[in-house]
Amino acid sequence: MPLNPKLESEKPVLDHGYVRLLDVMGDDSSPDSDARISTGVAARSEDAQTTLVRFLLRHKHTTPFEGSVLKFEIRAPIMVIREWHRHRTFSYNEESGRYKQLDPLYYTPTPERVAYQAKSNHQGSGEQHPDAERFIREWSEEQQEFEAGYTELIQTHNVARELARLNMPVSHYSTFVATGNLLNWFRFLQLRMDQNAQYEIRMYANAIRELAKQYFPRSFEAFNDYWLEAVSLSKREADLLRQMLGAAISSDNFTKAQPAPGPSFTKRESEEFRQKLIRMGLLSEQ
Ligand SMILES: Cc1cc2nc3c(=O)[nH]c(=O)nc-3n(C[C@H](O)[C@H](O)[C@H](O)COP(=O)(O)OP(=O)(O)OC[C@H]3O[C@@H](n4cnc5c(N)ncnc54)[C@H](O)[C@@H]3O)c2cc1C
Repeated sequence: MPLNPKLESEKPVLDHGYVRLLDVMGDDSSPDSDARISTGVAARSEDAQTTLVRFLLRHKHTTPFEGSVLKFEIRAPIMVIREWHRHRTFSYNEESGRYKQLDPLYYTPTPERVAYQAKSNHQGSGEQHPDAERFIREWSEEQQEFEAGYTELIQTHNVARELARLNMPVSHYSTFVATGNLLNWFRFLQLRMDQNAQYEIRMYANAIRELAKQYFPRSFEAFNDYWLEAVSLSKREADLLRQMLGAAISSDNFTKAQPAPGPSFTKRESEEFRQKLIRMGLLSEQ
């Protein structure tokens, strides 16, 4: 389907990267209409569509989100692509260092990004390193040195491109195309927008979300409410919460706190919330 020229289709990411939306199949009403094949009853209103889409994501009825597809072209450092390709449900095509000499583009982080190893998180970064500027200079010199050798092997000595890249650093940029349905993208975003994901891939995930949600605002709002910003508690955590809160919530207080029912918080959702509180022992059954 042609892209809407009034909407944004590309975002720069990091120093030389980007995400570019190439194609979209479906629109914001597609998950609703795909789901309604079950009953054969067409949506009566925008509100009815919103209610159904929110219900589906809330209850992880995910197949109606598989009928809408987004294709992106992405330029990213190889280290980001390596993480990205762990998401096996996308279809990928990547430029090949066997067929062409790759463009001389390398990622160098900003000084604020260059941090000490985090103390508590083995995968993460901690406070900014005081020697960040020097490290960036040195990384950049190494990249230039590699680039000069790579070019010489290919252009002066006619070494096969597939071997000339032998020492290519993971900071080197490469370009690939990723095609996935809305559910694939939700799963990817859930993991890669999280604070635990590496900063670099997080920046790409944020950009993907901004571009994709323009075409599926209703689904993305539901994704945000029920997946991205939702909190799930383990049994132990729920037990601790109950202990800390002490007295149970009164039925009166529960009723008073409920917002007026509407498509973004239906009577049914309010009842589901009541059942959760009962299960957690925070509200009595009557
Ligand atoms: C913060 C973070 C740290 C990570 N650290 C590491 C690490 O140190 N080492 C490492 O190797 N990986 C690491 N990963 C990658 C991670 O283990 C997953 O491979 C990656 O996040 C893709 O997730 P996925 O398998 O859910 O996605 P996809 O491959 O897109 O799969 C989507 C869903 O499809 C289903 N599925 C797909 N394939 C199968 C299958 N073969 N069998 C059963 N179900 C399947 C699953 O339900 C899965 O959730 C990390 C990821 C994150 C977000």
